Amino acid sequence: MFTTVYSEILDLIDSVDPIKYGQTRNYVDGAVTRLSPYVSRGVISTKQIAQCTLAKGYTTSQISSFLKELAWRDYFQQVWIAKGDAIDQDLKQAQENVIHYNTPSAILKANTTIEAVDTGIRELYDTGYMHNHCRLYVASMACNIAQSHWKNPAQWMYYHLLDADWASNALSWQWVAGSNSTKKYVANQENINRYCHTNQQKTFLDKSYEDLADIAIPVELTATEPFVLPTNLPITKPPIIDEALPTYIYNFYNLDPDWNTDIKANRVLLLEPSFFKKYPVCDRTIAFILELAKNINNIQVVVAEFDELLAIRPTSIHYKEHPTTQHYRGIQHQRDWLSPAIRGYFPSFFNYWKKLQGELLTLQAV
Ligand SMILES: Cc1cc2nc3c(=O)[nH]c(=O)nc-3n(C[C@H](O)[C@H](O)[C@H](O)COP(=O)(O)OP(=O)(O)OC[C@H]3O[C@@H](n4cnc5c(N)ncnc54)[C@H](O)[C@@H]3O)c2cc1C
Repeated sequence: MFTTVYSEILDLIDSVDPIKYGQTRNYVDGAVTRLSPYVSRGVISTKQIAQCTLAKGYTTSQISSFLKELAWRDYFQQVWIAKGDAIDQDLKQAQENVIHYNTPSAILKANTTIEAVDTGIRELYDTGYMHNHCRLYVASMACNIAQSHWKNPAQWMYYHLLDADWASNALSWQWVAGSNSTKKYVANQENINRYCHTNQQKTFLDKSYEDLADIAIPVELTATEPFVLPTNLPITKPPIIDEALPTYIYNFYNLDPDWNTDIKANRVLLLEPSFFKKYPVCDRTIAFILELAKNINNIQVVVAEFDELLAIRPTSIHYKEHPTTQHYRGIQHQRDWLSPAIRGYFPSFFNYWKKLQGELLTLQAV
């Protein structure tokens, strides 16, 4: 379903229709790109997508809706860099009206009775992808109708997503739950019917927004259940390191096949058990990264902590900057951004976007 062949991933970037995207992206069958699994895994960057699209002659204002979505990715990453583990907790204010820290069973079992939502959850289980609008509906149902705290259901969704990115995930859940936004996001049945082409009526969401604001938790969503999220890592051998060469470290967030390919190096995909204990992912996601790693010549997969890798004395270590690589030691390389000049914490996306817009013109000129 999601190719792992690099040339085909580049073809997918080439086939983006940013105009149709702007017109239809909110519909479940709209012209969305499905590129996020590759962006999240660091195979391609937001800059690369923007440049490739602008090179076709569009102006930044013609495709601003598309560029704005790419900007959300960079924005959330900048928040993660600035705030670190603080994004694991309610960021701006406490989520209101929380009655438990679990996930409704109906969401876990894809039987909420809201057809479009159940279809979206089944798609997540079958493919590792869910449309953005459906993610919003699920988060709204969990946090604002069933009154769950956002974190437990966020971890469940992250576990199943091929594009699992803790910044986009945790901060989007918090945006919906009102702990990282000025108001909670709620979707009613009319909204869901419109964007998912369903025609359901008389459901617990078939109400005006005013009425939804203070409904009791619907009986369909009252049961909750605990779940475990194990990550199964492969069994690997110690890497063979050529001491005459530098060692390039890849990981869950960096699988860039174009990274300094002109340099002869030891190339190691490092899968740290402690990382996956903190951010568990399902078997499909592990299989996906192992397949994506095949785009990198002579890469060796190593399940070990960074310090254990150091113990085998690899020669000069190179790695890419990321909030989850702060314990690495060696030569840090910068990631690609839509604009390397716009950094730091912006409390509001729209302030970030305002600053970024002018900078995007430089991408057009390249
Ligand atoms: C509750 C919730 C949880 C989410 N969890 C994740 C997650 O774990 N990982 C993840 O990558 N995204 C997450 N998102 C953001 C968004 O849903 C996905 O990035 C998007 O649906 C990916 O599909 P696409 O590539 O077809 O996107 P498109 O609509 O085609 O967008 C193009 C690109 O823009 C970027 N983008 C678009 N929308 C967003 C957004 N809202 N935030 C950040 N980047 C965006 C992505 O890189 C995407 O590939 C979440 C959103 C919500 C509401």
